[in-house]
Amino acid sequence: MDIFFIEYRDPLFSIIIFFVIIFIITFFSYWWGRYKRKEDYKHLNKFLRQFRTLPTENEIKVLVANGGLSDKLWFLLANSYYKNGDYEKAIEIYKEMLQRGSPSNVKEIMFLLGKTYFKAGFLERSKQIFLEILKNNPRSPQALHYLLLVYEYMRDYQSALDVLEPLDELEEDIALESLYLQALILIHDTKIDMDEKKEKLLAIYNEKKMLGYMIFEYLFRVDKEFAWRYLDVSKSEILVDILWNLDLKDLNLDIISQSEYLRELYTAKGYLNLAESSSVFEFDVLIKLQAKANATLSFEYACESCKGVYPFAFHRCSVCHEIDTQRIEWSLTRDYIKDFSEENNSFQ
Ligand SMILES: [Zn+2]
Repeated sequence: MDIFFIEYRDPLFSIIIFFVIIFIITFFSYWWGRYKRKEDYKHLNKFLRQFRTLPTENEIKVLVANGGLSDKLWFLLANSYYKNGDYEKAIEIYKEMLQRGSPSNVKEIMFLLGKTYFKAGFLERSKQIFLEILKNNPRSPQALHYLLLVYEYMRDYQSALDVLEPLDELEEDIALESLYLQALILIHDTKIDMDEKKEKLLAIYNEKKMLGYMIFEYLFRVDKEFAWRYLDVSKSEILVDILWNLDLKDLNLDIISQSEYLRELYTAKGYLNLAESSSVFEFDVLIKLQAKANATLSFEYACESCKGVYPFAFHRCSVCHEIDTQRIEWSLTRDYIKDFSEENNSFQ
């Protein structure tokens, strides 16, 4: 026993005990720190997850009905859904706001609802909304403009033309809209005599020298000889993709030989040999290459009003809804059709 007590009081033993205690404390504080960090991270993740998931349509219904947020905030939220292309949620917000009843801004909410229905492609519902707005507010140019667009997208061109009358009374500029709708009606009219149709379309173009792409694209499609005869060569640039894609047999050499631009264009295409260079960079490169490389032109279509660039030609911009604002942009690209035909020939 004595021996035991002596060893127990040994300073070495105390030092060992001291370090063991320090080790235990350090271990537990490290473990506790790790555990806390893990818990905090879990909590933060849970907290952030609620911001990542957007409210469902049912949640929106409940939130709007409860009136927890001001109309201004709901407008902002609906607008951000609209801009992100989430039209169903924007529609749900507007519908709930209307059901909740806000007499002061019903017209504005209905206009935004109609606009969102239009953008989402629900044309019939959009039409009903704008007609309802106009029933109580017939002097609303914005609603009239949208109603005209809806009729146009529904291919009810005559009704669209009828909308121009009240717009004219409101002193809106309808000249170009009127020509555009007249041209659309003519192009889609299957009963009218083709010769009469072509003459009338040409008369529409000559009235203001506008809608050149729309009208000549149609004329080159149905009667190339007629289109060449009445082509305004000074405006060839606005039709560059149509002219570029014509077949060699469809060219009118008399007209081409009189225009420097057309001589350069068809020499660059490789159909003719009437130019040695061009002020248009892409034409110049293709003329100098003299068909030694499989290169051609590719086209893009820019809107001069909203500056959007699209892969397809348009007469009315689908974003800003302006008419005749298309500008064609072109660039050099590999000629895949030539590649393909050469590959096929090599197998024969
Ligand atoms: Zn545009």
